[in-house]
Amino acid sequence: MKDTTPPPAIITLDDVHKYYGDYHALRGISAEIRQGEFFSLLGPSGCGKTTLLRAIAGFEDISSGHIQLNGRNMEGVPPNKRPTNMVFQSYAIFPHLSVAANVAFGLRRTSMSGDEKQRAVAEALEMVGLKDYGRRAAHALSGGQRQRVALARALILKPKVLLLDEPLSALDKKMREQMQVELIKLQREVGITFILVTHDQEEALVMSDRIAVMFEGEIAQLDDPELLYRRPNSRRVAEFIGMMNFLPADVVSVSDGRAEVEVAGLGRAELDAAQCPGGATFGAARIGLRPESLTILFEGQSPEGGRSAEGVVEEVVYYGDMTYYDVLIDGAPNKVSVSMRNMPGRRVLERGAPAHLAWDPRAMVLFS
Ligand code: ATP
Repeated sequence: MKDTTPPPAIITLDDVHKYYGDYHALRGISAEIRQGEFFSLLGPSGCGKTTLLRAIAGFEDISSGHIQLNGRNMEGVPPNKRPTNMVFQSYAIFPHLSVAANVAFGLRRTSMSGDEKQRAVAEALEMVGLKDYGRRAAHALSGGQRQRVALARALILKPKVLLLDEPLSALDKKMREQMQVELIKLQREVGITFILVTHDQEEALVMSDRIAVMFEGEIAQLDDPELLYRRPNSRRVAEFIGMMNFLPADVVSVSDGRAEVEVAGLGRAELDAAQCPGGATFGAARIGLRPESLTILFEGQSPEGGRSAEGVVEEVVYYGDMTYYDVLIDGAPNKVSVSMRNMPGRRVLERGAPAHLAWDPRAMVLFS
């Protein structure tokens, strides 16, 4: 049988608070980060992600609470005595030095012999795919290559935790996507814990084993990417992690955490407890439904379970592989966004066309 117990925690955050003067930047952060996981801190600008990362690294003192790393309380432990290393947003490569010298800089505080250092540098460069680049001048590297040099420099000391503060934000979209894949591979290879700070929800979803979504100094939700996407525990998290439609609804009955709802334009649906992450109470509520959980039925298709609704296409946005439609459903006060994968031989609907919609009640999330 597959062992499903999660690996032990390498970092324990216990009610961590941070004040800058009067400003309360971290407001009671508690979480466990597991050995060997790719963990992301995701949130809008100013929510405290970098502050938390810097507190873990030891660059920032906390005002109260505890940070444990590898079973040891980190109070008073300076950054260079912690089992962490950090890769910064501006990766601080020395342009006049060679690639190898830049990487060897990570070893400046060690007592290794010259030979040992050379071997460690070669190993680190190989790890990040820059095996033959040691003699090159750092200023002649591309953005992606510089990022790899910074990674090699941080990994050369074999930290237990690698902290990454928006490491890909300076790269263009294509390079960023390529580096995302390389970072995941690298993390699996070296097997250490990576903690990534990002404000890019797609980046977090692609890369992470688990994600902590932060708003205003607090963790709003901590889950794996799929749960965060499918079962956000608040409208705010739902909207931050991709696009979500919200339809007015009435909760008409509640039993054992299950709820029966009457959704404007869509009718009755029964939701189980997992679909009510914030609980269910009688009365006015909102139903969240992702654009891909609504489908426009084409000729000859019939809705599963007989649930369907009628509406009119109000806007069409074509993306090549996908089309997004804004549809006004009869009896609903607001438009919904519907995303459809484009298929050969199937035409894209035009504005004003009638839309025969199907929807999946299992994809609904209730927000009371
Ligand atoms: P970004 O994505 O923009 O970097 P963030 O989520 O990483 O944002 P932090 O850099 O952690 O946010 O900052 C959290 C809050 O604390 C912000 O409002 C910021 O202005 C404030 N702050 C950060 N550092 C200091 C400081 N040294 N002195 C005073 N306030 C600070």
